[in-house]
Amino acid sequence: MKKLIFNLIVFILISSHDTISQNVVRKCAVPENRPTKVLLQHKKLQEKIDEYFLKTDFLEKKEEKVIKIPIVFHIIHNNKTGNIGGAENGNISDEQIFSQIRVLNEDYRKLENTPAFNSNPVGADMKIEFFLAKIDPDGKPTTGINRIYHSKKEFDVFEDNFQLSDISYWDSSKYLNIWVTTLADNYLGYAEFPGGNFDGLELEDIDERIDGVIIDHHALGRQTGTAIEGVYTYGRTLTHEIGHWLGLIHTWGDEFCGTDYCEDTPPAERGNLGVKCNAIFSNCNNVKTQNMIENYMDYTADSCMNIFTSDQKNRVRAILDISKRRKKLIANAEFDLPKVENLQVKVLENPTINESIGVQILVKDLETIEYAIIDQKGIILTKITLKDTPSRVILIPKNILAPGINHLRVKSSTEEVTKKLILR
Ligand SMILES: [Zn+2]
Repeated sequence: MKKLIFNLIVFILISSHDTISQNVVRKCAVPENRPTKVLLQHKKLQEKIDEYFLKTDFLEKKEEKVIKIPIVFHIIHNNKTGNIGGAENGNISDEQIFSQIRVLNEDYRKLENTPAFNSNPVGADMKIEFFLAKIDPDGKPTTGINRIYHSKKEFDVFEDNFQLSDISYWDSSKYLNIWVTTLADNYLGYAEFPGGNFDGLELEDIDERIDGVIIDHHALGRQTGTAIEGVYTYGRTLTHEIGHWLGLIHTWGDEFCGTDYCEDTPPAERGNLGVKCNAIFSNCNNVKTQNMIENYMDYTADSCMNIFTSDQKNRVRAILDISKRRKKLIANAEFDLPKVENLQVKVLENPTINESIGVQILVKDLETIEYAIIDQKGIILTKITLKDTPSRVILIPKNILAPGINHLRVKSSTEEVTKKLILR
């Protein structure tokens, strides 16, 4: 079954007691197992992206909106006591998880004064942020961290992805699922490529239940908990794997001097396994180029990495629009808005040239909210109830408004706020 699924699998091999002086190898299994197929899939996806760029005039009008992605961490551990944190405990601490979220948000925002900053002219702020899910699939509040004991000591990254999903899984069209466990044979990670569910693209579909990332807890987070020793303990494994989940290809294109379809990442003969960040050169088509070993999509040590490029960003932005499941995730994602003591309502842009008017509603926790649109004569044009909602943005289609001034009345159980909406 698994062999029929198109996925880009990232395997990182590491010795359990590796140190910076030891030879540590990052490697991907798929390009080795099914090279022809993987390259064909890359090519097909690229055709779709090219078509998209042509059709949408993407580069000129692309919005620079920050995309927010909710993550659920499934901590599948073998610690019967249920104790959290500590040496060699797969039931890793919240702090270890938080440190990983911090790394992601540094790397995907090219944040100044962090290891993610670079001054390379092609270095891009991906404008993607990650946060722990706040609402579970049943609409209940959550920490975004599920801790589950399982009798199995370690999981096989090739064979056990459905088993991990059976143990714990949330809808992958709403959340980025990350299974954190102990992996067999010292493998450290694995990620699904957004191959499935492309409109009109003949790619084999990825089963939604395994769409996410599997990672060994020793490589999760930065210099804390069980991620202390070794060159892959600075959180870049997840940055790299989410790169694949977002559609990015290795910088060397998974073959000798291959292509990642990004013009601003120099051609490379192969993935670089260096742990010391020394300059490495390639000679592809008789042109000598310096490899971009600092790219998150190379295989170098965590500490060497600090760049996504503009073309990688454009590729990801296109894919997030083409891939149905990814697009749905972003559209459905709960908004990561603050909780406030008193009901707050803010009309985001009015008048607006858009089809809808966005309104931000901030609440204390989970509130049942009723909002109504009322015209100048006091007639209620529409009334909607949102049950147990967190702080969020609602979109009010302009076509339900009366010309001129309308009123938006928002009620919680104890408060009421009214705002003007103008239709010109
Ligand atoms: Zn990879």
